[in-house]
Amino acid sequence: MPSMRYIEPHAHMVSRVTDDYQAMVVAGCAAVCEPAFWAGFDRSAAAAFHDYFCQLTEHEPRRATKFGLPHFCWLCINPKESEDVSLARDVIALIPKFLEGKNVLGIGEIGLNKNSRNELKVLEMHVDLAARHNQLILVHTPHLEDKHKGTRLTLDVLRADSRIKPERCVIDHVEEHTVKMVFDGGFWGGMTLYPGTKCTAARAVDMIERYGGERLWMDSACDWGVSVPLAIPYAALELRRRGHSAETIDRLVYQNPLHFLSQCPKFALPGGAGERPA
Ligand SMILES: [Zn+2]
Repeated sequence: MPSMRYIEPHAHMVSRVTDDYQAMVVAGCAAVCEPAFWAGFDRSAAAAFHDYFCQLTEHEPRRATKFGLPHFCWLCINPKESEDVSLARDVIALIPKFLEGKNVLGIGEIGLNKNSRNELKVLEMHVDLAARHNQLILVHTPHLEDKHKGTRLTLDVLRADSRIKPERCVIDHVEEHTVKMVFDGGFWGGMTLYPGTKCTAARAVDMIERYGGERLWMDSACDWGVSVPLAIPYAALELRRRGHSAETIDRLVYQNPLHFLSQCPKFALPGGAGERPA
């Protein structure tokens, strides 16, 4: 068995091959969580999202089970397809019945892409959906030059709804210029380990060393583009290279995501979870 254990809190497994599942399990992955995402092309109708939600709640968990990996998911219409408010309204209306699914953890990855007025409207609709159904929230933050403003706007929307508790929201794809506002607001932060954009392992470890790693997880966000399904174990190696203890690494890559995700009672791992067996 692997000497390390970790949770992958953000991976788009419908885009990955079975070799990835195998490699993740061999590397010590104990659970994978899949937020709803853009397919790489715009879907033409709400019915396409219905089928995608079936894939995330029924078919993909079955595929993961073949490799002994528990699979969980998050549901939403992603920010890239949120420009069409009436389509978004139809898709959001589909979600409540899927929330009863046993692998559904919450609403995500919602947020902004270009920080447009329509995207903001759809973000507010998602936040309302999460509040009405008492769901955890996973937020995608925009890329590059839109990130700082987009993160600020998103935090404003979350704060404006008094039903939303920051400790039940994770703001993903944080970078050096956004991580502090996320922590200062009481939210959780996610660091996405991408080979080029977003955050390399070295930058992630720099941020951990600077801000501590209390309300923080790392994820690969692997999808159909250039991305690395084993990015978390690689970041663990970088932590070890810099002299961080096995306990610190276990806290960052396993116990932290476990802590956040266990706020949803459905996030149960086989054989229980928590302290490392001796
Ligand atoms: Zn994603």
